[in-house]
Amino acid sequence: MPRRTCLGCREVKDKSALVRLASRDGALTVDKRSELPGRGAYVCRNEACLKEAYRKKDAFGRALRSRLIIPEEKEMLREFPTGS
Ligand SMILES: [Zn+2]
Repeated sequence: MPRRTCLGCREVKDKSALVRLASRDGALTVDKRSELPGRGAYVCRNEACLKEAYRKKDAFGRALRSRLIIPEEKEMLREFPTGS
């Protein structure tokens, strides 16, 4: 199982324990089914880590190595799967 680093808490976890965020039409989106091509950013399945990632400006753009439209945090949280 590949391991990835959470952009929020920086812990390294199995990919399956993380939520993938990727670019769709140049905008950051929750990639619920891991179907979007290209690089992904990973965040633990909890709101705190998503919020923490949002606090680190440019974290998403760096992870995806591209300029991105970043939706508002509350918009992203609506799509964000929490719990397990
Ligand atoms: Zn985390």
